[in-house]
Amino acid sequence: MAFLRTAVKFSVCRKFGLFDPLQNNLGKFGSNINLERIALKSTAASSTLVDNATNAVEKQQQQPPRDPLDTSFNDPKAAFKSKTNWELLRAYVVYTLCSIEYLVTHNMQLMKISRAILGEKLFVVLMKGTFYGHFVAGEDQFKIRPTLERLRSFGVKPILDYSVEEDLSQEEAEKREVESSVPEAGEEKVEGPLKQYHVDKTFADRRYKVQSARTYFYLNEATCERNMETFIQCLETIADFQQTSKGSTYGTGIAAVKLTALGRPQLLLQLSEVIMRAREYMAEIVGGTGNVLSHHVKVEDLEAKFDKIQDKESLKKFLTQVTADKQGVLHLFPWSGIIDDQNDLSTTFRVPDLKSGRMIRLITQLSPKEEEMFRNMIRRFNTIVKAAEEMDVRVMVDAEQTYFQPAITRITLEFMRKYNKQKAIVFNTYQCYLNNAFTEVSTDLEQAKRQDFYFGAKLVRGAYLEQERARAAAMDYPDPTNPNYEATTEMYHNTLSECLRRIKAFKQKGEDKKIAIMVASHNEDTVRFAIEKMKEYGIEPEDKVICFGQLFAMCDYITFPLGQSGYSSYKYIPYGPVNEVLPYLSRRAHENKGVLQKIKKEKRLLAREIFRRLATGQIIYKPKGNYVPI
Ligand SMILES: Cc1cc2nc3c(=O)[nH]c(=O)nc-3n(C[C@H](O)[C@H](O)[C@H](O)COP(=O)(O)OP(=O)(O)OC[C@H]3O[C@@H](n4cnc5c(N)ncnc54)[C@H](O)[C@@H]3O)c2cc1C
Repeated sequence: MAFLRTAVKFSVCRKFGLFDPLQNNLGKFGSNINLERIALKSTAASSTLVDNATNAVEKQQQQPPRDPLDTSFNDPKAAFKSKTNWELLRAYVVYTLCSIEYLVTHNMQLMKISRAILGEKLFVVLMKGTFYGHFVAGEDQFKIRPTLERLRSFGVKPILDYSVEEDLSQEEAEKREVESSVPEAGEEKVEGPLKQYHVDKTFADRRYKVQSARTYFYLNEATCERNMETFIQCLETIADFQQTSKGSTYGTGIAAVKLTALGRPQLLLQLSEVIMRAREYMAEIVGGTGNVLSHHVKVEDLEAKFDKIQDKESLKKFLTQVTADKQGVLHLFPWSGIIDDQNDLSTTFRVPDLKSGRMIRLITQLSPKEEEMFRNMIRRFNTIVKAAEEMDVRVMVDAEQTYFQPAITRITLEFMRKYNKQKAIVFNTYQCYLNNAFTEVSTDLEQAKRQDFYFGAKLVRGAYLEQERARAAAMDYPDPTNPNYEATTEMYHNTLSECLRRIKAFKQKGEDKKIAIMVASHNEDTVRFAIEKMKEYGIEPEDKVICFGQLFAMCDYITFPLGQSGYSSYKYIPYGPVNEVLPYLSRRAHENKGVLQKIKKEKRLLAREIFRRLATGQIIYKPKGNYVPI
């Protein structure tokens, strides 16, 4: 009986190709030893090996499927397994239309004319059968559910992005932006010394030359409150999806958040300026570049520097707020104060001035109403993050224009410090087209390490390139972007390598998941680079510290093969009612024009898959996946 059992186990193992390790071991002893002889022996040792092999078979049978990954991303079958024939055809037609210059240029007017001619109902049918159906997941949190389920069954997870946008004319947008930058109660506007952080009417329409990002224009506090509720609805949708979908991977869904949606953007501009001035001040006081990595000054050294300051009481208060650790001063300012509703910005940023011997303010005076508006913005963001923590969903903060970015990064980092104690709940975004991206990411990684919180970040190339350059040139401040595309790619790859190097160091210390990075790019070379580097640094997809992200209906040939082969793979999922996402659709049409090479590849693969299915008689194809996202 023992012999029979062993023989059966061997044949099972063979069937599932599980003999390799055993055969390899045997190989060491000589190839003339055949498997049958080993099986006949049925010693205790071989029985153990076979039991292990049987367990492995059972384990493999239980495990969800994983496909091999073709890193040339040229496999149409893997790319479109999740799509019906109709969806492939629709995608092909939509991409073809997106390459017609006239249609792209006049798409918004054409959509409006079609609506007027066809009437509401027919127009909606037309849109759902074409652009909307292709680029948008559905109208609301219930209608997107089948799409989320389908993505999940093909190994892909969601980043939800409610894509309703106001259809503002350029004049209206400019008017709103300029109005929202006028100080409250008619006080005279005082701008700081850094030009980059001034409001300029020419660039008041922040959509200027921006295709791949949504823009919020401030109307009043009530609209910001509504935006907050929308973001929370996104979180609820993801939480509900995570809990009820079978085979779910709990705690991996993400909601995208824009800080400019949660308050008056002008306040972010002012905070950004104070952050940059504070850096200059820090550099002046401690030397180097004023960044936490570049000096090791202790608080005692500071006290000695400030001995000429007359207002000893204020100086004492200032010094007690300095953040330091064993390696030296981290921050001269209590940055955590900006997310503390007891603190006023105007009083927080008072510093000892070495020249005058007095305490001076780095921020222009804010009115009590503006202070309240700032606290409202922080409160809204806090409500979102708290809800995310309770629902075990992650929040990913989008990066925006450079004149907002220092504030957005600082606020997000403070929320990371507050909420990322056990895992990364809050994620920041870093734009690698900026010439300071590597330094920014390294500094923030270092702060996370020294202050012991989980660091989560999405790395992108950046969506506002042309606007950034045009604004810098027009307002006469240094261009913050890299000189060319190659420099941006180098910056991206260097920054990603630095993150991976640190992830490896944490892994070696047994501190897993202290850093989590999303490679958000449609660039195949960058995705391949990330995969190669992961291998080089011994980082497995199962470590769940590196994930990949692409937009819904963009580069499916990257997202799906990644998800199906066991990499952590995400799609940015836009949703919203047809008529309210028209501006989003319009932007996508324009954006597609700018990525013609990628669209060409997508179309080529779509055509190959359509022909393959027809040639193999798959006239009706029902996507059925049983993959489980990592
Ligand atoms: C999931 C996801 C989330 C995103 N979130 C954000 C976000 O929060 N904020 C944001 O700003 N963007 C965001 N983006 C957009 C992103 O920044 C890029 O605009 C877009 O993805 C194109 O870059 P790529 O790596 O995919 O492709 P590529 O085609 O390889 O790169 C194009 C990009 O390279 C850069 N570039 C092009 N020409 C030059 C040049 N001459 N000099 C210097 N740089 C150049 C530009 O950034 C341009 O967008 C997101 C993208 C994705 C997929």
